[in-house]
Amino acid sequence: MNKKLSGLLPFSVISEKRPSDMTDIEQSRNVLQFTLFGVIGCFFLYLCAGISLLQGRSELGLYLLSFAVIGTVLTLYARLTRHFLLASWLAAIMLMILSLYLVISGGAANTGPLWIYPVSAIILFIQGAHNGLKTLSVLLILVGVLFFIPLDFIAMPAYEITFKTRFFSTLIATLLVIWTMEFSRNRAFLILEDLRYEMEMVSRTDYLTGIFNRRAMIEKLNAEISRFNRTGETFSILIIDIDHFKQINDMYGHTTGDFVIRTLCQLMQDQLREHDIVSRWGGEEFLILLPNTVTEQGHYVGELLRKNIESRELSVGEDTKLHLTVSIGVSSAEYASDALVLVDQADERLYRAKRGGRNQVISTDVASEVQAPKDSVV
Ligand code: GH3
Ligand code: MG
Ligand code: MG
Repeated sequence: MNKKLSGLLPFSVISEKRPSDMTDIEQSRNVLQFTLFGVIGCFFLYLCAGISLLQGRSELGLYLLSFAVIGTVLTLYARLTRHFLLASWLAAIMLMILSLYLVISGGAANTGPLWIYPVSAIILFIQGAHNGLKTLSVLLILVGVLFFIPLDFIAMPAYEITFKTRFFSTLIATLLVIWTMEFSRNRAFLILEDLRYEMEMVSRTDYLTGIFNRRAMIEKLNAEISRFNRTGETFSILIIDIDHFKQINDMYGHTTGDFVIRTLCQLMQDQLREHDIVSRWGGEEFLILLPNTVTEQGHYVGELLRKNIESRELSVGEDTKLHLTVSIGVSSAEYASDALVLVDQADERLYRAKRGGRNQVISTDVASEVQAPKDSVV
């Protein structure tokens, strides 16, 4: 939690990890795309392999069949394990070797190089703009060397020079177009991810103080209750209400009221442990979640907060100093294993604290009331 709360403008301070949902969405999209390309690509490879074998071009047929089998294995691997990155690199290398083979062998009637167009597009899509560019740069260099530098140890088909130059330049043009599309898609995705993160933060943050709002705290409470029911690890909550806050608004105005709320929030955060969570539960009411804390400890923390607030002087103008007090209701999961009951219990205790004269902490029910004296440490 960010602790700087002074100043006029509220700001977002929840320092939680970035939600991973968007990454999951991108991962699912990648795996789906890889599977589709895998199924379609392998279908064509099996088809071409079959045709080549039937037409008696057994070497070409067997090579294509091997690539089809490798493609099938990689597609299944990506689909079943979701280890997309490894699968995409292996597939890209396989497609690069297939392309080079088609250039060197010439494929059917020296039309093999034409397959490099769709193959390169597939490499870009499955590897993305960044890694795809690396693979395709290597591929282009290798194809360029094969086309334009005579190598004695490789028997190349007799491609026309016009075909080679046209093929090479149209391939580069096509790849540039596809790369631009993939690059802008990726940029759009990143912008969308940032927006979603911001929305998520806004929807869980209180606009005035920057701490968790009621919605976010309800999520936390539900999660803590489930954990308690699973593991038995208890926690306490404090509901804290500023005493006679309306008077502050009435006497000094709403802006001062806002300042008081923010300052109080900071005071409490400064005093709590790092893993305690402060939320704005309502207007001038806060709900604090204290993990791993039994009722007595919760009461003790409530007393510390109450005394600290009571002892402070808040400067709200040149010569104006305010003294605040708060009333606190405490409840713990060991006596209420349901989030609603837990909150109701703390609420009921808070209102008893109000009725009992304010500026006090209550952590027990009326029946078992042996309330600690105001200044005692429970
Ligand atoms: P009690 O001791 O019984 O709690 O009295 P109180 O005056 O604190 O309680 P009451 O519920 O009568 O008044 C709460 C006031 O808090 C009323 C509302 O205008 C004010 N309030 C709620 N939210 C905000 C806020 O965001 N800013 C400011 N300045 N005031 C707020
Ligand atoms: Mg109130
Ligand atoms: Mg109040």
